Amino acid sequence: MTRKILMIDDDRMQFRLTQAHFQNFRGERFTLEWSATYEEGLTRLLEGTYSACLLDYQLGDRNGLELIKAAVAGGSRTPIVFLTAESSEKVDIEAMNAGALDYLVKGEITSRTLERSLRYALKLGETLEALRKLATHDQLTSLLNRREFDRIMADEHERSRRFGHPFALVLIDIDHFKSVNDTYGHQVGDRVLQEVAVRLTKGLRDVDRAARFGGEEFALIIMQADAKAALEAAERAVEAVRASPLALDGGPELKVTVSAGAASIPGDAASTEAVVAAADKALYAAKSRGRNRAVAFKGL
Ligand code: GH3
Ligand code: MG
Ligand code: MG
Repeated sequence: MTRKILMIDDDRMQFRLTQAHFQNFRGERFTLEWSATYEEGLTRLLEGTYSACLLDYQLGDRNGLELIKAAVAGGSRTPIVFLTAESSEKVDIEAMNAGALDYLVKGEITSRTLERSLRYALKLGETLEALRKLATHDQLTSLLNRREFDRIMADEHERSRRFGHPFALVLIDIDHFKSVNDTYGHQVGDRVLQEVAVRLTKGLRDVDRAARFGGEEFALIIMQADAKAALEAAERAVEAVRASPLALDGGPELKVTVSAGAASIPGDAASTEAVVAAADKALYAAKSRGRNRAVAFKGL
């Protein structure tokens, strides 16, 4: 299937011209689609089905810079090549700062420079995406890493304050994990971590997030959940790991259990630090009550 490129430009002539350039490309063939307005362009960009976007600076009474900012704020990662009417260093730099990957001056565009710029933006977009994945995910388990966990917690706390809904945290720690390492070796230990991560993720709703919190500790962020929903999520997590022995192909079958602590904002805590401390306290209680169970902070 050919990759789709979206052109957002209020000038039909410019679109026709670009279509003609696309016919001259020497390498990959792309499908070019066109939006003539800011609103339609932004909507289509946010659908996330385009491989790259050619974006005009002048869009009626709106401009392309605003559109880049709105797209980025909306979570779009589609590479954008910015088109300006004349060479203006200020606009160029502003576009790059807003998130454009390249810019072209309309009067100077040739089929060759357009093709080169698009290919460059597509490649750079892929590289950035790979870097973003590395920076936000744990390599062993592919769950979110601690830094991304902190960022999402702060974001979610902000949203929960603004819209007045609660959200919850579940901290999970593998029981007697040291003895897995001691008995079977570190590599088997690593595979247990991967398998536990898979089981914890399976029971989550799409909106919820799972992170590797530390060595053999995991965190679930449960969106729009109160203390009761948080405890239910914690119980599901414990059950998902306990349900059947972990089958590590070519290795031993291992009975693994986890303990979990649940707490919510604003019911149990007023800050993200405090909710982590509360969930940790509940986790500690789960350990001391015999492990392989979930405990809520409330009532401790
Ligand atoms: P408890 O039930 O009280 O949680 O006991 P535990 O043995 O799970 O807890 P402890 O904190 O004593 O041991 C955690 C172990 O987790 C020690 C550490 O070597 C191991 N660990 C941490 N990160 C990794 C990792 O990335 N891979 C492996 N294989 N082991 C890890
Ligand atoms: Mg631990
Ligand atoms: Mg442990």
